[in-house]
Amino acid sequence: MFNPKKHNFKPFESKVWLSSPTMHGEEYEYMTEAYTSNWMSTVGDNINEVERMAAETVGVKYAVALSAGTASLHLAIRLAGIEAYGLPVGSRGTLEGRYVFCSDMTFNATVNPVVYEGGIPIFIDTEYDSWNMDPLSLKKAFEIYPDVRIVVMAHLYGTPGRIDEIQKIIDEHHAILVEDAAESLGAVYKGRQTGTFGKYNAISFNGNKIITGSAGGCFLTNDLEAADKVRKWSTQSRENAAWYQHEEIGYNYRMSNVIAGVIRGQFPHLGEHIKLKKDIYIRYKDGLEGIPVSMNPIPSCCEPNYWLSCMLIDSEAMCKTVCGEQEAVYVAEEGKSCPMEILKAIASINAEGRPIWKPMHMQPIYRLNPFVVREGNGRARSNAYIAGDISVVGEDIFKRGLCLPSDPKMTAGQQEEIIRIVRACFE
Ligand SMILES: *Cc1c(COP(=O)(O)O)cnc(C)c1O
Repeated sequence: MFNPKKHNFKPFESKVWLSSPTMHGEEYEYMTEAYTSNWMSTVGDNINEVERMAAETVGVKYAVALSAGTASLHLAIRLAGIEAYGLPVGSRGTLEGRYVFCSDMTFNATVNPVVYEGGIPIFIDTEYDSWNMDPLSLKKAFEIYPDVRIVVMAHLYGTPGRIDEIQKIIDEHHAILVEDAAESLGAVYKGRQTGTFGKYNAISFNGNKIITGSAGGCFLTNDLEAADKVRKWSTQSRENAAWYQHEEIGYNYRMSNVIAGVIRGQFPHLGEHIKLKKDIYIRYKDGLEGIPVSMNPIPSCCEPNYWLSCMLIDSEAMCKTVCGEQEAVYVAEEGKSCPMEILKAIASINAEGRPIWKPMHMQPIYRLNPFVVREGNGRARSNAYIAGDISVVGEDIFKRGLCLPSDPKMTAGQQEEIIRIVRACFE
């Protein structure tokens, strides 16, 4: 229970953000270069360089620079749909032909592109070991829906999921993997970076990501034909003719050369950002020793990019909480706390935390979509959860977890204060 009267906490003069852009100077130079050379459109050296750096850094043959991670995922799903079914998703075929298995605990941009393409997301529950897609739940999902051919998997908060097991299950069912590595750029799973395992993959340079262009994303693949298609689709599907000639539906998804200048200046600093984020994670881990919480897990097979530091409160140390659609209420209790209380305490010293991303199967917009857990139909389990059975992992992590301020510009001293206030919540 947090009692502000008992402590002497002073708000920080300037706000400590969850994760905000960290600039270095080169970004400005490359942006200016676009301006002075008048390459202010969607063609130019910065774009070419971003594509080269993205492909080289992550370890894929081709990167296509697009306006956002979401755009990259959309075109990935478009490719996956057409190739996997051999018929246009959403127009013909059966309902089952439109099902796509998706991570449940993720940001909605992982899932929405499936719907843009007429697909129906089926959500797969989460595992505690990585906070990502649970291979056993995925296995169960293929038992229930054997015809599904696309799996979209996100690596949440910069920690890789269990790719080996998931890939094995996917291969057994002749399905394809689309990786959403928007949050995990630079994270390594058994020696290989995320964004290289799927047939079509996406990274993001949105404002809060580990490196940013203020916006932007890349589509990643080893398939030349796919890369060419995405490049064409992203520029309104113009055919090779002097007039505007179109044989396919197109999109205005290409990256701007100005934005690409910012990303070009950021790329050399990716390693340094990961180091700063890792230091933050370690300081939290050490600083929160001895209170009934744990950090977001790091599986032994991987080196995350530590994008966000998160914590999970032990079940026994949770005060009573009721979470509605807009607000949560809790009952303060000695020796216990809950995410809402901790977030409020953190906000009181001018720092920004955030609840765990609300799982997709709990979102009003996706409430009627199928949801699979290890035991089978997760909707049935969900009701059991209300009755006190916590085998829906995503719901449990959502209820007990939170994201801590993880901004690389936060000083060690500021972080000490945040740790002190979190500890004070359990008095
Ligand atoms: C940020 C994010 C995206 C979307 O990337 P944008 O560049 O913002 O479109 C997709 N998936 C996840 C998991 C993300 O965190």
